Amino acid sequence: MNPPSLNIVHPPSVDTLARSRTDTGLPHPLLVDAARAAIAAGRHHEYDEYVERAKRRLLVPVINATGVLLHTNMGRAPLSMQRNSGYSNLELNLDDGRRGSRQARVASLIARASGAEAAVVVNNCAAAVMLGLAAIAKGGAVPVSRGELVEIGGGFRVPDVLKQSGSRLVEVGTTNRTRIADYEAAITENDDISIVLKVHPSNYRIEGFQEETSVKELATLGLPVIVDLGSGLLDDSCPWLSNGRPAWLGDEPAVRQTLGQGADLVMFSGDKLLGGPQAGIIAGRADLVEQCSRHPLMRALRPGDLILEALQTVALAYLNRDGDAIDFWRTATAPIGPLRDRAEAIVSAAGPNAFGPRVIDTEAAPGGGSLPTTTIASVGVSIVGDVTASLRAADTPIIARVNDGSTIIDLRAVDPADDHAIISALGALGGS
Ligand SMILES: *Cc1c(COP(=O)(O)O)cnc(C)c1O
Repeated sequence: MNPPSLNIVHPPSVDTLARSRTDTGLPHPLLVDAARAAIAAGRHHEYDEYVERAKRRLLVPVINATGVLLHTNMGRAPLSMQRNSGYSNLELNLDDGRRGSRQARVASLIARASGAEAAVVVNNCAAAVMLGLAAIAKGGAVPVSRGELVEIGGGFRVPDVLKQSGSRLVEVGTTNRTRIADYEAAITENDDISIVLKVHPSNYRIEGFQEETSVKELATLGLPVIVDLGSGLLDDSCPWLSNGRPAWLGDEPAVRQTLGQGADLVMFSGDKLLGGPQAGIIAGRADLVEQCSRHPLMRALRPGDLILEALQTVALAYLNRDGDAIDFWRTATAPIGPLRDRAEAIVSAAGPNAFGPRVIDTEAAPGGGSLPTTTIASVGVSIVGDVTASLRAADTPIIARVNDGSTIIDLRAVDPADDHAIISALGALGGS
């Protein structure tokens, strides 16, 4: 009989464990952290699990099967992009070889697509609002309707952003009703009001005894009207969609029409209904856009060339009226028939198992803090029980939702190229 091996009693060294998985491509310090954690927990035999978890803590692609198209936890608008070269002509004018403007080309394409005189791009809509207020209100008072003092998403609160811009908030009207006379009174009472701010309350609705002052009315006050639109729907009639404006857009205001009604500047996000990368756009009167561009904050808020390149791709698609080239719009408007065919193919490929996958009708949502009350008809696969943790553990993590004790894989936001990954994950559930 052999004496018991010491290896059975003593855990391997951290270094030995870490070196056993150099095949993962994870850097040594991360493998060491995982090895320390496994040994400390007395689970060095399960080191592979710790390594898998370390990989999952990196930024990785996931499959969005939640049915929420613009999901803040998954980067809002989907964007597939490939980059061909390390350098770009970011601030280089190729005509004369001199220094050019990093903003000019992409911002002017967005301005063109939305009917604005000019535009400027910053890091997100919060930055756009802050810069716009800092540059145009210049520390003065800014009247805002009490019905529009909203919080949107993670910590964008209109009163706070206003304060950070160095402006002073003047509350106007009431929560449910604000009239033009309320603004007139505020302007009479405060001699440092030089602009009016209107905020689209993206993620909530006031219903019933309600009245808001339109952009058209605000424009009669004779002060620059600044509108925080949020979602970035470029045009009411959606000329980039072959079937026109979808019903689920409801009364979501659009950039072109808001400017047409007399707004002097509008601000919106790049990664909501615009369908681009995280960015914020200020569009409107050329002289006001110029004031924003020249403000010292601009240097701190300017995006880099990866973002501008992605935004340019989206702007060109709008100018081509090619909604199918914008991942968000293609996904949002995909017809229901093919979605159902895909769901049926997934269910039959996964085969019958204890989890009883079956095809169901679902309701997807635009998400992104916009259009809180609308849904988009969709199709999904329903699985008995909550298997969301197993789905998240798939090679490409699949993010699903649970409803009434069943897991729902909604296919609207899933790229058809990922259906095979869903089939394998369902197969793995059944133990086959
Ligand atoms: C979403 C939203 C914002 C914040 O936009 P970010 O791009 O996330 O900074 C600001 N205002 C409105 C009206 C919004 O809907």
